Amino acid sequence: MHRRSFIKSGSLLAAAQFIGMTGLSALQALEKHLSPSDRMPVLFIGHGNPMNAITDNSFHRKWQELGKTLPHPQAILTISAHWITEGSTRVTTNIKQKTIHDFGGFPKALFDQQYNTPGAPELAEETKKLITVTNVKGDDSWGLDHGTWSVLLPMYPAADIPVFQLSLDYNKPTTYHYELGKQLSKLRDKGVLIIGSGNLVHNLYEIDWNDTGKQYDWAKEFDSKMTEWIDKGDHESVLNYQKLLGKTATMAHPTYDHLLPLFYILGLQQKSEQVTYFNDQFDMGSVSMRSLQIA
Ligand code: ZN
Repeated sequence: MHRRSFIKSGSLLAAAQFIGMTGLSALQALEKHLSPSDRMPVLFIGHGNPMNAITDNSFHRKWQELGKTLPHPQAILTISAHWITEGSTRVTTNIKQKTIHDFGGFPKALFDQQYNTPGAPELAEETKKLITVTNVKGDDSWGLDHGTWSVLLPMYPAADIPVFQLSLDYNKPTTYHYELGKQLSKLRDKGVLIIGSGNLVHNLYEIDWNDTGKQYDWAKEFDSKMTEWIDKGDHESVLNYQKLLGKTATMAHPTYDHLLPLFYILGLQQKSEQVTYFNDQFDMGSVSMRSLQIA
């Protein structure tokens, strides 16, 4: 039902543009036709090793389960650790998405995966309007990177739900990402599932490639401190993690691309909403797969 009305709204925009309506009136017309929905949950998903996309393990099975049990989305917006655009925030405007294999050294079976969903150019336009903390730019040069498709492939294998991505302006302060996340809130009431895809701890220099069960104190400390603050609703401490956790923070995130998507998701949490966790384990010692569902 929802999906059908979404498709209808897509053709409505095309029709509006064809008859020469201005962008604004076309969008106003579109807005009337996007189906309102119950407020969708938001997710922060630890994606970890790209092989999780096609490996039958506990992470992969949980993603499959989510796809079957969450309210069915009309569209999906992802904020992935793997789309960094310094100097601007961008949103994909592609009509049809393409699969980006943005990694090296993995088996051919992973490169053979395709996840070419419809894009959501109308929702991208609406997202640009919703965000006032910066001037978001449209971008049709990107597609779906593995932060997005490695998770969505197990969740929604039919690849028939429109997906669009928002990029990370890497050098902005944590508060920028948090405030921007807040401004995405209205999309949740239009059947859009918003997913931040990264990892709560992510240090590729310390990876235990043979998975010998190595445990790092700094990894456990960072994971548990962040969880404690999230549980208390203490987002201020989460956003000040570098100052508060010092060297532990630097070890947990030598670069912070995989943490940034979390700030968008926490920005979307309403006062009445609870956080639940899943996949709360470490993989290869230095990657926390701990994921959050907010609803
Ligand atoms: Zn990654």
